Amino acid sequence: MHRTLIVAALMLLAACEPVAPDPLRVRALVLSSNGKYVTQEVTLNTISDPFRMEGSIANLIGGARIVADSQDPELLAATTEDQLARALIKSEGRPVTASYIEKDGVLWPADFHTWNLVTVYYNFEKAHEYFNTVGNIPNADFGGPATVYYFPEFVLKDSNPEPMKDNALFFAPTQSFMVVPFDELQRAPLAINSGIMSHEYSHMIFNKKVYGGRRLPDPLTLWANGSSPGANLVKSLDEGLADYHGYGVTCESATGCDAKFLSTSFDQTTTNDRDLSRQDRCMDTFLIEQLNQTSLSSFSGQGLEYKVGSIIASALFQAGEQTGQRKVLERAIVASYSDETSDNPGLQQLITLSLSDQTRFNLVSVTAVIVNHITDVPLKTAVCNEMINHLRIDPAALIGPGLPCPSAAQGTGACK
Ligand SMILES: [Zn+2]
Repeated sequence: MHRTLIVAALMLLAACEPVAPDPLRVRALVLSSNGKYVTQEVTLNTISDPFRMEGSIANLIGGARIVADSQDPELLAATTEDQLARALIKSEGRPVTASYIEKDGVLWPADFHTWNLVTVYYNFEKAHEYFNTVGNIPNADFGGPATVYYFPEFVLKDSNPEPMKDNALFFAPTQSFMVVPFDELQRAPLAINSGIMSHEYSHMIFNKKVYGGRRLPDPLTLWANGSSPGANLVKSLDEGLADYHGYGVTCESATGCDAKFLSTSFDQTTTNDRDLSRQDRCMDTFLIEQLNQTSLSSFSGQGLEYKVGSIIASALFQAGEQTGQRKVLERAIVASYSDETSDNPGLQQLITLSLSDQTRFNLVSVTAVIVNHITDVPLKTAVCNEMINHLRIDPAALIGPGLPCPSAAQGTGACK
């Protein structure tokens, strides 16, 4: 028998002290083996209030309004990062309201938004689980539930006066996620695409670990003027690693690894451009020139961080697959994000060392940081080979006595 649950009052009574929530059985929209999203029973392990979609991994907030406008007096007056966030968030919004029909102990979303909300939460839980288990990040390091603005009015006024549509993103200045309304997207909404949501979650992890949780990361501000090779590279790395981890999350799902996880939400061109399994991606003269010589705004304006990022992602993909050590590599990459060990700096520490000279943050030094966090010699060798080959790094910069890559690495391949 179906029973509609109207429960706000009940939940208020229940909220006396924090207790670990019971696993919640709920239906969500999950990719099936035939490539379609189907309703499926899943378990949410961290949700404390399914009616407000709140839990230890994420809090979903509706009705928020966030406006970034370089002419906004409030924004111009902000002198700290916290003031910046307050100036951007014009309306805080409120908890979302989900409604369900209960059937044999399972909650069935009763309306479209609840289907979407449950699936968003489920996707966040899966991304978190990946970084916790495969990535080896302790729960305490995640900094509490992520704030997820659901269908906010999100305006980036300098590029478009209209609220953003058809997107999902991590927005560092507010340290929150935006799942904006869809409009023209004809395919699966981004919110239900686990790989895409995990890509966005990866940006949060990158921000926390590599940028120290900064709303305005130093490399993107201090390095951004004029030719900005370090800023261009760190943006590319953020995108490429987000694709690689997004793929990593798909490998933990029932349907298995999906190197083309964009395919259910994007057209074929975009899907092919970002397909991790492609072996033919190589840095070319144009990309090398743009990476090294153009400004971050010009680089990003052409979307080149995705192009360079895809080359990095597919190089890592090849190394992880050919050695059968995907998870070991994924864990090593996360370990390389921040490392205080004096003789083995992480990416955050490499940035700090390079703050006054961004050319020190380059393909060679970044590859060295990643490789130095891999202990297994065959995996190290494979990563060296793929990175040197696809990114067209001079092998002599990485292979040899006292250098990060084992002498077994050749650094040759299809790109040469
Ligand atoms: Zn991204």
